[in-house]
Amino acid sequence: MPSPQLPNSMAARDVAHVLHPYTNLVKHEAVGPLVIERGKGIYVYDDQDKEYIEGMAGLWCAGLGFSEAALVDAAIEQMRKLPYYHGFGHKTTGPVVELAEKLKAMSPLPVGKIFFAEGGSGANDTLIKLIWYYNNARGRIDKKTILSRIKGYHGVTIASASLTGLPANHKDFDLPIARIKHVDCPHYYRFAQDGESEAEFVARLAKNLEDFILAEGPDTVAAFFAEPIMGAGGVILPPKDYFPAIQKVLQKYDILSVSDEVICGFGRTGNWWGAQTFGYQPDFISCAKQLSSAYLPISAVLVPEHVYETIRENSGKIGTFGHGFTYGGHPVAAAVALRTLQIYEERDMLGHVNAVAPRFQTRIAKLGDHPLVGEARGIGLIGATELVADKKTKRSFAPTAGVGAACMNFAQEEGLIIRAMGGDVIGFCPPMIITESEIDEMFDRFERALAKTMSWVSQQGLN
Ligand code: PMP
Repeated sequence: MPSPQLPNSMAARDVAHVLHPYTNLVKHEAVGPLVIERGKGIYVYDDQDKEYIEGMAGLWCAGLGFSEAALVDAAIEQMRKLPYYHGFGHKTTGPVVELAEKLKAMSPLPVGKIFFAEGGSGANDTLIKLIWYYNNARGRIDKKTILSRIKGYHGVTIASASLTGLPANHKDFDLPIARIKHVDCPHYYRFAQDGESEAEFVARLAKNLEDFILAEGPDTVAAFFAEPIMGAGGVILPPKDYFPAIQKVLQKYDILSVSDEVICGFGRTGNWWGAQTFGYQPDFISCAKQLSSAYLPISAVLVPEHVYETIRENSGKIGTFGHGFTYGGHPVAAAVALRTLQIYEERDMLGHVNAVAPRFQTRIAKLGDHPLVGEARGIGLIGATELVADKKTKRSFAPTAGVGAACMNFAQEEGLIIRAMGGDVIGFCPPMIITESEIDEMFDRFERALAKTMSWVSQQGLN
């Protein structure tokens, strides 16, 4: 890796000038960045031309990999025709209309309208505002509290970071804001009590949710946000009956539900939507990332007809619907997203995911036999291994030991980019175009990294 110490290197200039997202800023000055220069298929290459398998599709997003010419063509064509326009004040562009039609046709729920934003955070912020607006319009001015879950991830803007249930997103940012509250994380491996069956665990979480709502006052609770699989919180899959049980409680108290499909949407779990995989029937959906295979930033909020009707009437009364982003529904991003969705269909991406997922999941499951792996989990083309100090007691390593980060660095040495999350969870979420032989290559590289991690853990006396 090029050292930031080399004067005028890209690494040194980066350290001098760039404030990095989600980075240990002190460490960054010493180690510098990995400078990624180009991509091809599931691979990316650094400025020394070292090859890496992108085991996370970037940030769970580049579904079609890093060299899809048809998306480049779609962008160029739209750029030439009309590089920018917006939807404010009764304007529109063709790609936005066509993308809305396409998303409605793909939606698992009856959708009235689609609102476009630029990223997942903006989509979720929009949803909070829409839900507050909707309840105000209905005269339910106290029904405003939004529930999300511990370890959930919904973004980093003030409201969406408040929804996120991870300490680093709250601590020292004066978050969460009022009226956003967190409920249980449905991770059976970590949070089941001794001897508790999965069914008992689910029943306890549903009861806790109901108790929480009753304590808050059902007339004050507006909505519940959940990712079908918790992504950045550690690729956490809910037990089979979790969503139906939770939804029963939400429906009882007239609480709206949101499926944050920013990671799970567009085939990742083997269905178009993660909600379908887990028996979740939300009122709203937010999506982004694989919507455009990440080639350009765009997100969407799927709004049910009855909510739209109320918002429409209210905006008619007050003169305007006062929400929207300059770059929301950018025509170039919309053209690329539309082309992405067409490619998913033309190339039967769902069929492909379901064809290669058994190989991916077999390799993940096999990692579960490794002495460092407490739990290996996944579905479709997403998965994780949770590294532990003691498999039997599930004891984690001290967070300061940096075992996950060490494993991630060993993987990088082996030519594999993966993501270490809190609790030493290593995530895998490769481009959906990955083939069976590439899946094998990815896990072969990871197994070598895990062997190195194991020796390092022993040398450090960490287990
Ligand atoms: N929701 C989920 C489930 C996500 O994974 C993310 C991003 N990782 C977001 C929302 C926020 O999206 P963005 O970073 O585009 O704002």
